[in-house]
Amino acid sequence: MSSKKNFYSSIYKEPGPKLDRVSPFESMMERFRFAAETLNLDEGLFKYLASPEKQITVSIPVIMDNGNIEVFEGYRVIHDNVLGPSKGGVRYSPDVNIEEVKALAAWMTWKCAVVNVPFGGAKGGIRCNPAELSQGELERLTRRYTANLLGIFGPDRDIPAPDMNTNEQVMAWIMDTYSMNSQKTEMAVVTGKPVILGGSQGRKEATGRGVVTVTLAALSKLGIMPNKVSIAVQGFGNVGTVSAQLMYEQGAKIIAISDITGGYYNKNGINIPEAIQYMRNNNNVLEGYPDAEKITNKELLELECDVLIPAAKEDQIDHTNADKIKAKIISEGANGPVTASADAILEEKGVMVIPDILANAGGVTVSYFEWVQDRQGYFWTEERVNRRLNRMMRNAFDNVFGVSENYKITLRQAAYVYSINRVATTLKMRGIYA
Ligand code: NAD
Repeated sequence: MSSKKNFYSSIYKEPGPKLDRVSPFESMMERFRFAAETLNLDEGLFKYLASPEKQITVSIPVIMDNGNIEVFEGYRVIHDNVLGPSKGGVRYSPDVNIEEVKALAAWMTWKCAVVNVPFGGAKGGIRCNPAELSQGELERLTRRYTANLLGIFGPDRDIPAPDMNTNEQVMAWIMDTYSMNSQKTEMAVVTGKPVILGGSQGRKEATGRGVVTVTLAALSKLGIMPNKVSIAVQGFGNVGTVSAQLMYEQGAKIIAISDITGGYYNKNGINIPEAIQYMRNNNNVLEGYPDAEKITNKELLELECDVLIPAAKEDQIDHTNADKIKAKIISEGANGPVTASADAILEEKGVMVIPDILANAGGVTVSYFEWVQDRQGYFWTEERVNRRLNRMMRNAFDNVFGVSENYKITLRQAAYVYSINRVATTLKMRGIYA
């Protein structure tokens, strides 16, 4: 075991003292390495899974509205396709780079495996500032990126989805470009499409709905009734509003919500439908929300409450504030809201952290449903989508919880152990093609 540990470290060097990881790749690899050690994973399989299967960089020439040619850089990384075609979002951002995309692609592998959907992991991106591009420029950029990756994308090969700064419209352009080149409509090449173009009912709410399913499962393990809990939700966007609304419907008291404008606290509970309505009438921000005391986003995290749902952005709980967290359960709606250095402190305090790869996997689960429906050409009701989503999320929680009890490890470690074991076992059975 110890020589194997040295081997893992020779492939991935442990970055010294418990500092916060700056790179998402390091943070992901640290967790991967721990799971490999716990499983005593074969060295060859570790090497295989530590390196992405394909990394593609493309130049994307676009004729801008002023007639000039601009060249953008785009990426697609396929981490693996062991469990099935690879799946992962495409982000448009000025600082996206291949290292970040590599880490996020591996993250998708573990996320798909944890909820048992038959997909491998991938991620893509274009380095651009979408705020500075016109609709026409965005469309030409998206279509040329898709055209450059025609040999990579495909319903049986690699299936993109929305991510940071990409949306239903961008997915519709990808689907159309791919279809035009295939000379047939190919809906299943991309997920997160508008419902009218083969998108799924319930996709928009799926991530928040999944957060709530696993939160309820965790509460039941602790023997706590949902209508007796107080909850703080950081971030009041897609994931945060749906999580808050559904927990509110369960009778929970949502004592604080927040967005980019700050936190809003009411110890007697916030009326969530009213807060959502207020935000919609107020340029989509909570600024000035009347029925609460204004606090900071940092104060929100440290409130006395049973459940904390960070649903805004990464790195919110780190070694500087982890010991001030009072919640019994943290349900990670966002990706990476708790840093690796905070994990140990929260474990010491006995806080149950439902990790992002499990808690927010409802989105990829309904993306899988969308792909299934597109391939069947038969579309489900929202009720059926939600029922199946609930079942898959509940099973995933129970599987991870079982691993955490068996190995006496945290839910985060267990989620990685569960998913890496699943991918590695499948890989062993498939064997290495020579
Ligand atoms: P969103 O843009 O709809 O909402 C984000 C919310 O966070 C907004 O209310 C925004 O004001 C707030 N916010 C931004 N910066 C903040 C800050 N510094 N402090 C406090 N609040 C801040 O985004 P979303 O789709 O709800 O995604 C939220 C998180 O969930 C992200 O980490 C995303 O990667 C993750 N996630 C989303 C999905 C999905 O299906 N939407 C799936 C998996 C993971």
